[in-house]
This record gives sequence, structure tokens and C-alpha cells, in this order.
Amino acid sequence: MSSEKLHISYNFIHKLCQETAVKIREDGKPDVIVAIGGGGFIPARILRSFIKLPGEKNIPIQAIGLSLYEDMENGEDAIGKEVIRTQWLDFGALSQHFDSLIGKNVLIIDEVDDTRTTLHYAVSELYKDVKEMAEKLGRQDEITKFNIFVLHNKNKPKRAEIDFKMLGGGQYYAARDVPDAWIAYPWEAVDIDEHQKQAERQGFV
Ligand code: 5GP
Repeated sequence: MSSEKLHISYNFIHKLCQETAVKIREDGKPDVIVAIGGGGFIPARILRSFIKLPGEKNIPIQAIGLSLYEDMENGEDAIGKEVIRTQWLDFGALSQHFDSLIGKNVLIIDEVDDTRTTLHYAVSELYKDVKEMAEKLGRQDEITKFNIFVLHNKNKPKRAEIDFKMLGGGQYYAARDVPDAWIAYPWEAVDIDEHQKQAERQGFV
């Protein structure tokens, strides 16, 4: 991993969302956004505005919380990396918009695809939930599309690969492919003015 952190400004993130929203929209309007917390929340909110055309209803955003549990004995790059669910879909709220995720176009959002462990977990678990529900209701013939959006995809060997069969024809969108370096996002900055200066110096504005 490169030792220099990449500092990304709020404006740059806004523009990455705006730019990718055009492609996402061309491929079909998502029915629901699933934002992986906390890094996926702000991109999800920005993207929603750009995906929606004037006069259309807002796309509902569902928050899920996932955190990576690092196997302390094996270190950061250990295989023992596990995902913990801290929050999952609110099926009650979902049913107010539509009956379920079955047959819908779902857009999953996170800020960065590093080892892909988190995204792999999110897609697999959402796919399993929908499949189980579809079987219960006898609606296995309906295809649910899962799309993924990240601001940054790190070019590195991934620990997990996403089974494209699970995506139901959905796409993987990364606004930028980046080298394997630590990315400093503005929402984590203790000193946002200093962060902005660094982002300007590095050209991520
Ligand atoms: P993965 O499961 O792909 O290894 O990691 C995903 C999560 O790890 C991200 O959602 C993010 O919270 C955290 N993460 C990984 N790399 C970075 C990085 O370069 N910068 C920041 N801020 N978070 C990262």
C-alpha cells in the first residue's frame, strides 16, 4: 500500500456521484438504494438527487450497517477478516413503498471497495434474503437486479469475488479506480480546512 493518503474533497465526491449517476440512470432507474454505513450514506444521498429526473419521486434509501472485524492474531491482511451486521433492512419501511425487494432494481452503495469483503457480504446476504422470500411467496420467476456503486475501487487483489449470477444482470460501477493507498474522505476529517488544502494539492477537488 502506498504511504501517501489520498485526500478527497466534498466537491470532488459530489462530481463523481453526478458523473456516474448518468450511467446508472441509462441502465435503468433504481427502485431502492441500500447504503452501507457509514461511508455509503453521503454518496447515496448525493447520487439520489442526480439519478432522479424532475417530477419523479425520490428513491427510498435504506441504511445497513456492516463493520469489518479484523482477526487480531493474524493482522490486517488476515483471512480471518469477518463482517459484522450492525443494522439491516427495515422491511416495515420497505413495505410502505412497495411489497418487497423481489423483482426490483436495487442499488447498493459504499464509499470504497478495498478487499471487497464488505460488498461481497452485502450482496450475498441481500440475495439470500430476497431468494428466501421469493420462494416463500412462489415468486421465483421475478428477477431482482443488484447494482453496486462505489466512489473508489482499489486496484489490488480482492479477498472476495462477487458472484455475478447474484446480480441478476445488475452492474458494478466504480467512479474511479485508484491505486492501493489509504483514502481520506472529508467526513472523517478532524480539520476540514487542512483536508481541503491537501485535496487541492493532490488535485482531488
Ligand atoms: P473492504 O471490505 O472492501 O475491505 O473494505 C470496505 C470498508 O473498509 C469500507 O467501507 C471502509 O469503511 C473501509 N476502508 C477500506 N479502505 C479504506 C480507505 O482507503 N479509506 C477509508 N476511509 N476507509 C476504507
